[in-house]
This record gives sequence, C-alpha cells and structure tokens, in this order.
Amino acid sequence: MTDRPPFAETHVRLAHGAGGPAMRALIDAVFLGQTRDPAALARADAACLPFGDGFLVITTDAHVVSPPEFPGGDIGRLSICGVVNDLAMAGACDVAALTSCVVLEEGFPLETLRRLHASVERACAEAGAGARVVAGDTKVMRRGELDGVIFSTTGVAFANRVVRDDGLRPGDALLITGTIGDHGLTVLSARHGLGLEGELRSDVAPLNGLVKVALAAGGAQVHAMKDPTRGGVTGALTEMAEKAGVAVRLREAALPMTAAARAAAELLGIDPLIVANEGKALIAVAPEAAGTVLAALRAHPLGHAAAHIGEVVAGPAGELLLDTGFGTRRLVSRDADPLPRIC
Ligand code: MG
Repeated sequence: MTDRPPFAETHVRLAHGAGGPAMRALIDAVFLGQTRDPAALARADAACLPFGDGFLVITTDAHVVSPPEFPGGDIGRLSICGVVNDLAMAGACDVAALTSCVVLEEGFPLETLRRLHASVERACAEAGAGARVVAGDTKVMRRGELDGVIFSTTGVAFANRVVRDDGLRPGDALLITGTIGDHGLTVLSARHGLGLEGELRSDVAPLNGLVKVALAAGGAQVHAMKDPTRGGVTGALTEMAEKAGVAVRLREAALPMTAAARAAAELLGIDPLIVANEGKALIAVAPEAAGTVLAALRAHPLGHAAAHIGEVVAGPAGELLLDTGFGTRRLVSRDADPLPRIC
C-alpha cells in the first residue's frame, strides 16, 4: 500500500465520491480505519469470502445518476448492471441473487417508476438465470429532500476461482472489451440538453456473459480485471497499478472510441480516458494468451470492438503513460470530477 498523508478533513466534499484519491483517502480514514478484515482491506469492487471449496462473492452499489433516463439506459438498468459487473470482475459470472432498495422523492411519477422497474427486469433477464431481485426495500422522502430517485443494489455469486484487481504482472497485455467514454458522455449530453444524443448511447450492459467467455479462453492467464466506471480508464488502471506495484503503458491510437463519443469529448473538452463506462472491462492477460482472449471477446456481441490497448511494465507503482504517437504523456487520476452523478 502506498503511504498517504494523514486525513485532516472536516466535511464531505463532492470529490469524496468521485472515485479518485480523495475518495480512497475517505474510505481508508473513516470506513477502513480500524478494520483488520482482509476482504475489506482488499478494497476491491466485490469481496471474495472463502466458502466451501470456492468463494462467496458479494458487492453493493448505490446509483444516483441524473437524469434517471438517458439514451441507451436508465438508473434501473444501471443498478443491475453495476452490481452484476462488479461480481463478474471478480470472476463470479453466475449471479445467485440480487437485492434492491429504492429511495424515492415525494411526487416522483409512478409511470417513470414503472418504466425503471421494467428496465430492472430486462437487465436481470440479460444477466442470466440467477440474476433476480429476491428482496427489496422502498422508502419515500419529502419533496426537496432528494432529487428524484436513488437505487441501491446488492449482489451475491459463488465462484470456484476468483480474479483480483491487483494481479497485474509486468509483461501482461492490457485489453479493453470495447469503446470508451460512451456512458459518461451520453449522460452529460442528456443532462445539459446538448443535442448530441442522436448517435451517443450509454454502453450500460451486464458483462458476466462476456467475462465468462474471456475466462474460458484465458483461464489462469487472466491475471486481473476491473470495470472502468467512475474515474474512467485512467482511474481504474491507476488503482490496479498502484495495488500491484507496477506501471502501465497505453497506446492512444489503440483506444477504441465511436465517432460520436470522440466528437462529444472534443466539443466538451473532456478527456475520454477519465469518463465513466458502464459496459466495459479492462483485462490484464499473460502475453501468450492475449490473442486467444481478444479473439474470444471479439466473437461475443458485447465485445466486437475489444482491443489490445497497452502493456503492464515494471516501474513506479501506479504510473500510467500514454504513447500519443508523438511522445509520451503521463495520465493522472484526479479528484476534480467533471462529471458528478454519472452513475
Ligand atoms: Mg467496478
């Protein structure tokens, strides 16, 4: 673990929810302060607890996205996919059960709530047999005490073998399962009525089927996985590389992006590498298995744009270098979140 300065803050700031260094400092200081629990101290998106001959994998996630409906998805779909994907990143692709808490603002339209629930059910169906909401809770707050709706979801799965987010080894190939930036740029465009939505669509999707295919192709050669949600590819890779004590080199020309997302990022002046994705995974795989895993990903409907975007190298822990074709730029995971309430 890297040394961090003492936590001297007195009040919560937006940056404490942005997925960057400030959030990690808050979690370390307040939530993990005294714990000795190895599952919690792993600071992973899902906890992997030894269970029988395998593992019980559990994760939980709150969604506060604004607006609640956007091109390609809505907060209901997001609430299921977010949890299914955090389980899948640990290698747990067969969901056992989900729970869902919905906190509503007085006056929230029931017609919208019905649509969001239908979307929850569709996302569950896409994620497979075990992905079903078996328990839930509903709370209502007075008008003005909450902005519309919050979904909070918990998911459980069993796995024989788990994949960690800190397993990067120098020499590993880094794969991404598809285009970057689509989700965050779509939500931002919808929120501000930028009129870019025509071709921009969120990528929000359950990745457990795709990950299953990658694990079947790569087996133990798959060393680490993480979904680049809040903080984007830069945030996710920084965290993975810090934990593993390695550096990462990315090739800008290899990063897959749709033309619409590229145009939106340019127009908004936002680096697509820090934008949240909700249907993509970063996969570190031994170099000799990279071709096989990439081919397997590309043969899956959610992975046709998968790409080999860089390498894990020996170097300062958490250092991210981007080869731009003209030179090398250092990527830094920051606290200044240009995109609050994106997931
Ligand atoms: Mg995650």
